[in-house]
Amino acid sequence: VQGYRGRSVAVLGLGRSGLATARALQAGGATALVWDDSAEAREAAEGQGMILYDLTRANAWDDVAALIVSPGIPHLYPEPNKIIAAAWAAGVPVDNDIGLFFRSFATQDWDNFDVTPRIIAVTGSNGKSTTAALIHHILAEAGRPTQLAGNIGRGVLDIDPAHDGEVVVLELSSYQTDLARALTPDVAVFTNLSPDHLDRHAGMGGYFAAKRRLFAEGGPDRAVIGIDEPEGQYLANQMVYTLSDDRVIRVSVEHKLKGAGWNVFARKGFLAETRKDRQLASIDLREIVGLPGSHNHQNACAAYAACRAIGVGPKQIEGALRSFKGLPHRSQVIAEKDGVRFVNDSKATNVDSAAKALQAFKNIRWIAGGLGKEGGIESLALHLVNVEKAYLIGHSARDFALQLGDTPYEICETMDRAVASAAAEASAGDTVLLAPAAASFDQYPNFEKRGDDFITCVQANLKN
Ligand code: ADP
Repeated sequence: VQGYRGRSVAVLGLGRSGLATARALQAGGATALVWDDSAEAREAAEGQGMILYDLTRANAWDDVAALIVSPGIPHLYPEPNKIIAAAWAAGVPVDNDIGLFFRSFATQDWDNFDVTPRIIAVTGSNGKSTTAALIHHILAEAGRPTQLAGNIGRGVLDIDPAHDGEVVVLELSSYQTDLARALTPDVAVFTNLSPDHLDRHAGMGGYFAAKRRLFAEGGPDRAVIGIDEPEGQYLANQMVYTLSDDRVIRVSVEHKLKGAGWNVFARKGFLAETRKDRQLASIDLREIVGLPGSHNHQNACAAYAACRAIGVGPKQIEGALRSFKGLPHRSQVIAEKDGVRFVNDSKATNVDSAAKALQAFKNIRWIAGGLGKEGGIESLALHLVNVEKAYLIGHSARDFALQLGDTPYEICETMDRAVASAAAEASAGDTVLLAPAAASFDQYPNFEKRGDDFITCVQANLKN
């Protein structure tokens, strides 16, 4: 990190990104003064040779050049954080690791890509990880050096120093974009918007505003914007004014996009690119195993557009889309045997993402349940038409059973029993799908472990 040599910088929050920030500051010649509300976290940091500094003290700010805050810490809502508010009151700049990253590394010299790294940043409510990973995969397949960081992969301050001609692909959550003092990617991508984290952003307006910061004037050189919600349409309209319409790519899976601008959209399973009303490419997405469902077609369109924005050719992108394996635990095809597909969507921890999975497949043998959320699976009623039978696990199994209407079900309690039953009853053309519509914490430490268990059970079953 540049810009703080010989000065003291406070770091609040000592999780993975806080510790990486402290190390990066030290490496740049600054003194990192660290603090966390938890005594345990403080002790662990001290054990790693970090300098503890009590930020709750009255005169804590006298010699501090800046305060760097971890993304897990709410700053304004539901209520202002006392330490952060004290820094603001003392006139101390407040930033986060993303802001430090952009101030230190982003050069934003569009015409000299060969001699500077280029940065693509992806935000939105859903599909960020998939889109970022897909962009990374396409670039790698196209022979461009690339690194993946942010909310996925490594922390931004943990990546290798990017070299000339390299592309850094960042996944950024609203927590990260909200506080960063600098946000200057070369290409900014907005996937979609649906309600999430509303407490921390004081409602939908604040949540959208946090994401929109990535598109502020003086921000990106190119913008890729999903316009399937009114907020995306509004944003695209603004960006065309800021950047001109040959630097904004509009993306949709709901509208056939026309007009003079630059568009990428999917209709009936085909991705199309049009520019100044000329059709430049058409790709059949229906056969791409790693990207099932229209939500993944949206991710494919956004990733396609981001790579087009930096000059990758349509044919190269098409080949790379075909070889994308999908991310673990997100509509991940694990195995296919005797015409039966096994799909792990353990990341579908709420009904919205489970609904997408249930729309993406036919003849579903659906493994669901866990720690259900308010309302259970009531809102999934419309999406049960593709479900042959539900195999229910975990704490919410019986509650979910009551909300299934006419759909057949079996209370299996555990993953191994659910997989065994579903596999035994499946016939060619069926999909055995784990999409729990519930959190994992009743039976697993996290959704990754739940997905891993599903994979283990499937593999054991296929061996028999
Ligand atoms: P994020 O990083 O934004 O959480 P992921 O790519 O990890 O997104 O996907 C999270 C969950 O949302 C998965 O269950 C996935 O199937 C679903 N999903 C993925 N892409 C989309 C999309 N474009 N729209 C809606 N849901 C999606």
